[in-house]
Amino acid sequence: MATRALLYRRPYEPSTLLIKHGSQVFAIRVRRHRRARRYTLRIHPTDREAILTMPPRGTIAEAKEFAQLHGGWIAARLGRLPKAAPFHPGAVVPLRGTPHRIVHRAGERGTVWTETRDSGEKILCVAGGFDHVDRRVHDYLKREARRDLQKAAQIYAAELGVRVKRLSIRDQSSRWGSCTSAGSLSFSWRLILAPPYVLDYLAAHEVAHLVEMNHSPRFWKVVGRICPSQERAKKWLDTCGNDLHRYGIED
Ligand SMILES: [Zn+2]
Repeated sequence: MATRALLYRRPYEPSTLLIKHGSQVFAIRVRRHRRARRYTLRIHPTDREAILTMPPRGTIAEAKEFAQLHGGWIAARLGRLPKAAPFHPGAVVPLRGTPHRIVHRAGERGTVWTETRDSGEKILCVAGGFDHVDRRVHDYLKREARRDLQKAAQIYAAELGVRVKRLSIRDQSSRWGSCTSAGSLSFSWRLILAPPYVLDYLAAHEVAHLVEMNHSPRFWKVVGRICPSQERAKKWLDTCGNDLHRYGIED
């Protein structure tokens, strides 16, 4: 289901607050949310910053006080983020759950492709200039994610007798997938990093929303009917899902 973020900020308000905790200084992003009832803090896993959400009538002074009060929490949570794994040559990236080492092949034709070394090691080869390795890997993973998700969504849609109008691949960090009542599905490209049964489950989940636009027992029955790996995939996302956010970002 889609939830549209209803955000606004008063024009004269700062968009970030600086909070001091011990010897550290954190920049906190501030946003107002029309439906927020109180001040809340969360950590954005890919931007690696704290976001403070405040109610429409909240004040910046109160927001600052709230953030200051939770300085210890912010420091602990930012410190606990898994290490960033940028797409640089030598880095290891899981592709469909299988580790692949990025290898720069400057002189070769093509863009990005996979190979298996004699040692059995899987590698992701990237042609072209060094400066473009990161972007090329990103583009490749998004393309592969789209292909796998389109294929899976089509199969599930046929089984349920529904039609997917549009499928988009995004870099959303708050959710793995979403679905609108108009029949548009969108997914995080990072699902291509997870084992295939996890990507399949997300496709089944969003397609099932075309039948049941809610998370009722009826909805879960539909998912269970088309996706036997549901429980296993949910468990994987609970324990390993967060780790996918560290790939392709700079420290
Ligand atoms: Zn859902």
